[in-house]
Amino acid sequence: MTVDLPDGYDGPPLADLAAAVQTDGDETLRVETPMTGAAIGEVPACSPADVRTAAERAQQAQQEWMARPVSERVEAIEQFVSLVRGSQSDLLDLVQLESGKARYDAMEEILDVVATAGHYADRAPEYLATERVPGVVPLVTQASVDRDPYGVVGFITPWNYPLTLAISDVIPALLAGNTAIVKPAEQTPHTALFVAELLRKAGVPEGCLQILPGDGERLGEPLVAAVDAVSFTGSTAVGREVAALAGRELVPATLELGGNGPLIVREDAPLGRTVTGALRGAFASAGQLCIATERIYVHESRYDGFCDRLVERARGLTLDTSFEWDPDVGSLVSERQLSKVRSHVDEAVADGATLLTGGRHRPDVGPYAYEPTVLADVPEGSAVACEETFGPVVTVTPVADDEEAVARANDSEYGLHGSVWSGDADQGRALARRLDCGSVCVNDAYISMWASTGAPMGGRDDSGIGRRHGKEGFEKYTDPQSVVVQRGHPVAAPAGVPNRLMAATLSWYLRLARAVGLR
Ligand code: NAP
Repeated sequence: MTVDLPDGYDGPPLADLAAAVQTDGDETLRVETPMTGAAIGEVPACSPADVRTAAERAQQAQQEWMARPVSERVEAIEQFVSLVRGSQSDLLDLVQLESGKARYDAMEEILDVVATAGHYADRAPEYLATERVPGVVPLVTQASVDRDPYGVVGFITPWNYPLTLAISDVIPALLAGNTAIVKPAEQTPHTALFVAELLRKAGVPEGCLQILPGDGERLGEPLVAAVDAVSFTGSTAVGREVAALAGRELVPATLELGGNGPLIVREDAPLGRTVTGALRGAFASAGQLCIATERIYVHESRYDGFCDRLVERARGLTLDTSFEWDPDVGSLVSERQLSKVRSHVDEAVADGATLLTGGRHRPDVGPYAYEPTVLADVPEGSAVACEETFGPVVTVTPVADDEEAVARANDSEYGLHGSVWSGDADQGRALARRLDCGSVCVNDAYISMWASTGAPMGGRDDSGIGRRHGKEGFEKYTDPQSVVVQRGHPVAAPAGVPNRLMAATLSWYLRLARAVGLR
């Protein structure tokens, strides 16, 4: 196979990364770059048998890994953070090469890995400490909860954030004493392989994290069958399939799925900052972000002014596929993604929507490059309004008041992330609480939420089940065990005491304990 790396690529040699894949087969996966459409390498394509072998290795490695004191696991993750920082340039090149995103967007991934890994390294000892909880009878009953690792956790991850989504959920799982198998998206295996190598260099033993590139449809079932817990990030359609597999195997699964993010501009919003935030929300990673802004609802008194500024600023964004820092917007990832974006925009325009700017494929920039696009007068019920477009496309709609804004924002099957803009932070917060989303930013699009690693993030409704970040993002990789030590007499009728009297005593005790705040 002829490999043709784009000019300016200065990242790690891809063949070396591919060589780390452990497989008994000889099938391969061809990887192309969205920057030019050219082949950049091939990696072994793992088989179901490879999945089972990897699971056995992971089970063996887990015993030793779990037995280490948490401080040693923390030390390895601290070292990993240093290596990520030291490999910034390699990581940026690699993420851009495989995803086609702009360099600044790739940098957000590095920052997220550093922030998330740092957060969990700091908190893991506290999250894993034995927790005392009230027993049924104070002093007599001592209850405590310990958190054990599940064992081997399987991760299935998408291409849109190939670095952070391949590793940021793995970190808390490892810190909790699990080992991990990651099935990365077919478009972006090298990034996952590189970051796994950094973890190995940081002191995480072989077998604790294995990357298995390959076809998700083929590997999903054997992976879910072989592991003790599953973490899936990807589309809602595939998430349902993974949930069904997990249900059949009775393994816990968290599902981070799609979105169709609303952004509300209140009457009192500061327009300049709001437009800056809306641009970032709509066009970061060329809109291929699960928490992207896809629908903007603007108070009618500000609508014209907002649209004018948004369109002017969107036209000023640089669209390019290069390894430089200057471009604002990069490429879509694939022909499939491009054709979805084009069909959403073209259908909306054919049905009466107004194209305020953009709406053009730009093959002169890159094979899948598409202009930042703003649509108005979008018919309710059109695909661009109701479905996840996952491209650099945003719709704007005037609304009469907060009530209409909330009703429209919540009129979606998704419930991942929203954004509210207001000159009054308290009112903004109150409005945010009315959005049916797992997370909402006030006066920012998404980054301040994402970067607040102590706050759990995740989806409601068709956007998923479970949370990442915060305590919830750690505890989901642990299996709690409660131990209750009863001193003195067991909770049973003493010899000679009739059951009826014992039942009445217990009933009275529960009422009393609650009344005096003992429970
Ligand atoms: P996808 O098609 O669902 O693929 C995600 C992963 O699932 C890939 O590794 C894929 O492998 C694998 N897969 C495909 N079919 C499978 C099956 N039957 N069983 C098990 N695994 C299977 O999603 P995508 O197109 O890569 O990513 C975009 C989607 O991810 C968007 O909807 C976006 O909103 C969502 N997303 C959500 C979050 C979040 O945190 N909520 C974050 C990022 C992205 P192949 O590569 O072989 O197809």
